[in-house]
Amino acid sequence: MLFLLLLPSEQASASRQSDKSAIEIGKRYQLEIPEETKQALRKARKKKPSDISWQTATVKSGDTFGKILSDFGFSANTTYQLTSSEHGKKLVNLNIGDQLELASNDEGVLTALHYPISITETLKFSLTKDGFTSSIDVKKIEKRLNYAQAEIKSNFWSASLGAGLNNNQTMNLANIFGWDVDFALDIREGDSFNVIYETEYIDGELVGNGNILAAEFINQNEAFKAVRFKDGEFYAPNGDSMRKSFLRAPVSFQYISSSFKPKRYHPILKRVKAHNGVDYRAPTGTPVKAAGNGRVIASTYNKYNGNYVFIQHANNIVTKYLHFSKRAVKKGARVKQGQVIGYVGSTGLSQAPHLHYEFLLNGVHRNPRTVKLPDAEPINKKYKAEFVQVANELLTKLEGSKRALLAATDDAARAIAE
Ligand SMILES: [Zn+2]
Repeated sequence: MLFLLLLPSEQASASRQSDKSAIEIGKRYQLEIPEETKQALRKARKKKPSDISWQTATVKSGDTFGKILSDFGFSANTTYQLTSSEHGKKLVNLNIGDQLELASNDEGVLTALHYPISITETLKFSLTKDGFTSSIDVKKIEKRLNYAQAEIKSNFWSASLGAGLNNNQTMNLANIFGWDVDFALDIREGDSFNVIYETEYIDGELVGNGNILAAEFINQNEAFKAVRFKDGEFYAPNGDSMRKSFLRAPVSFQYISSSFKPKRYHPILKRVKAHNGVDYRAPTGTPVKAAGNGRVIASTYNKYNGNYVFIQHANNIVTKYLHFSKRAVKKGARVKQGQVIGYVGSTGLSQAPHLHYEFLLNGVHRNPRTVKLPDAEPINKKYKAEFVQVANELLTKLEGSKRALLAATDDAARAIAE
């Protein structure tokens, strides 16, 4: 519209041809448009795509790509051209809720299609004279550091979520310290943790929480610290791996953590110290993990142990798992730490579904939750200096955030008291 208004009008041209001295005061005259401007305007008009309009299609149940295009008035040939182009296969496997941005020109020809395939990636098709070309547009994720802190009041899970960590990070936090702390039986009211983690932003918008970079966990007044290195592994501040040859608990806390009640002594877990083992009360079917790498030396049934599995490990260590509802490994099999070897049940001499777990060193029963384990692998020597630098930096940040938060809490408490 603006373009049209700038064009010299008929009358204006006519008046220009008339005597230039006959200009009337107060009358509006069209100024002559310089030739360069006219050229620039012609160019701009050429560059400007002929009225492209965008429409959004949301994939519904029962939709196919062809049906969506046909619903929007595009031909079967367009569907064929798109799906047979590079990346076109991705259009065949649409998910319900996916959105397609469709661009068409004023002749009703589909000229471009944008399909966001993840929060960072958009698949873009555009029509050229040789058919559709496509590319994947990747948005950069910007990472920022965040800090979370919590004291456990009812259970670890709710403390972690309450501190702003998500489910994934909560599991990761338990996994980081799962070789030192038995999250199923040994978490107490008053335990606490501090975490530095990444948050991810796209175009300045928060899209999610990322990796934990450093964390401190205080369990029954004992502090454990861990720092993530670039290999994705966690190491103690001295460079020892957080991974040890044995997990403290062969069942994940998530199946039993809900039974944690403040100021009470595990009413449901009910630790039974008799018969040289540790009992984990958990629902039938809860997966049980091998505490360490080893070889299965027994996987069978008798009327006392029910379904049971024994594993022989290095350093003359044997672990025993009793009362399974179902065994998942055979005698002679090699198992890896964390591998599921069976499922909680109540077979044999058992009154309720539980895992009975024993840890024997040189044939002598030891408490698996307190036994001194073989030394952890240290970080590779060639990375030690780099790790120490990263660790110092992150642990300083962790301490700083902790102090800042404590000070802020003190101030708030003082403000309330005043
Ligand atoms: Zn038992």
